[in-house]
Amino acid sequence: MANEPRKLRYAIIGAGMAGILAGIKLKERGEAFTIYEKAAKLGGTWRENRYPGLTCDVPAHAYTYSFEPWAEWDAYYSTGAQIQTYFEHVADKYEIMPSIRFGHEVTAAVFDDDTAVWTLTFGNGETAEADVVIAASGVLHHPRLPDIAGLDTFKGPAFHTARWDDTAPIAGARVGLIGCGSTGIQIVTALAGKVDKLVHFQRSPQWVMPVPQFPYTDDERAAFRQDPALIDAIRYNEEYIGAIKRFTDGITDIDGPQMKMIEDACLQNLENSIRDPELKEKLRPNYRAACKRLIYSWNYYEQVQDPTVYVETGGIERIEPAGVRMKDGTFHELDTLVLATGFRADRFIRPAVVTGAGGVSLDDFWAVRPRAHYAMTMPGFPNLFMLNGPTGPVGNFSLIDIAERQWEYIDQLLDQLRSGAARKVEPRAEAFEDYETRRIAAAKTTIFGSGCNSWYLDGEGVPASWPWSYDAFAEAMTKPVLSEFELAA
Ligand code: NAP
Repeated sequence: MANEPRKLRYAIIGAGMAGILAGIKLKERGEAFTIYEKAAKLGGTWRENRYPGLTCDVPAHAYTYSFEPWAEWDAYYSTGAQIQTYFEHVADKYEIMPSIRFGHEVTAAVFDDDTAVWTLTFGNGETAEADVVIAASGVLHHPRLPDIAGLDTFKGPAFHTARWDDTAPIAGARVGLIGCGSTGIQIVTALAGKVDKLVHFQRSPQWVMPVPQFPYTDDERAAFRQDPALIDAIRYNEEYIGAIKRFTDGITDIDGPQMKMIEDACLQNLENSIRDPELKEKLRPNYRAACKRLIYSWNYYEQVQDPTVYVETGGIERIEPAGVRMKDGTFHELDTLVLATGFRADRFIRPAVVTGAGGVSLDDFWAVRPRAHYAMTMPGFPNLFMLNGPTGPVGNFSLIDIAERQWEYIDQLLDQLRSGAARKVEPRAEAFEDYETRRIAAAKTTIFGSGCNSWYLDGEGVPASWPWSYDAFAEAMTKPVLSEFELAA
């Protein structure tokens, strides 16, 4: 009955950073939820990525939940393995583990308009019902393999970075690395000097921002445990916050002073760090800084000059059983081939088949591009909420902060269901179309649309991101505008 408080059943899809967050928040309220996770372990991105050099380029003390600082970080920038440990620690501490159903990959989700109930089907054949679905299934988890002739003929191990093969020859071996995004760059820093030869196939050079890196000592960790204000002093350090602000302002004001400061700092880094003029020119970017994700690195320029590393900038003709043939005929003989070629960023909850009210299909709704009202809700898909869904903020900052802010917004919409004011909540089609039209127009003017290729662009070449300032995002997340929503009894 409308206007009577309801106990809702929540299904959270994915036990990564965002799914654990949603679980903690619902548990705090004493609500009934289940987290469905396709794998046998939590952690999402940090479970799947184990490549050498994996480090989060957001300072460790800023890459935590705001309510759960951690004294144990090994270094200013932490390794992926330690971040995985952090999420396991948090899930234990907040007693989330018993609510996770591992090995439950959602293959379909169907909304019944009459009962306002979602039915989920899993790969193992089971089904479950929920009043609310929280899709926290992550963004970059479908590896994109390069479309290069002969890839399947390579006789050694060839694998994507998110499927790292621990048995592949690396130490003392001849390794090829295709791809020069944040992942490829980190792998260069880890393999330089440990291999016989690393051929880094670079299609586009990168902008590299120098950043400090240093380990924390036992004494420092003890001090963090004693006094959390010391952690806050790092997380909310003015210089760090200032750099984030510069970056986020620069994304939208691409000819302004902030972006110039970023470009100048990176170019000076290139000038000062690379000794060989030929290598310097190979590494000089030919598009605007931050158009692709900016590289934050304390050691890439040092490691790329190691004698074991060769940066190959020629075009790849084909892959042959023994190595990679370039368009100019050069042949690189290799034992192992690593594909740091990124992810399909347009998948989100898919390949699950999602069917909303009246049989509307998510694939149809996203036929042109993945889209959502303020990146979280969609007309035709009542009571379905996304964390880190399509068109949210992207760049060089913590996605944990994004998810926490999105949760504040979603939680207020959930209040409409909890209170019984509505049985169904979804954005009004006109409000959403108005938002999306404004978003697309603004997105085209951001740095991501300034003329480079990246996973930030959708299939139409439009940046698939929040196109306004971070402050505007933070402000928008404080309160949903209820008049933009259909609140059906
Ligand atoms: P990515 O940024 O999409 O980079 C893919 C790379 O592969 C690009 O250099 C691309 O070249 C190259 N490539 C693709 N197909 C190719 C082909 N056929 N031939 C030659 N080169 C090809 O992927 P990623 O490096 O895995 O990073 C993805 C995202 O993960 C990052 O942007 C970031 O959001 C996240 N990440 C974060 C961290 C962190 O520290 N926080 C670390 C790693 C990853 P073009 O540039 O020429 O297209």
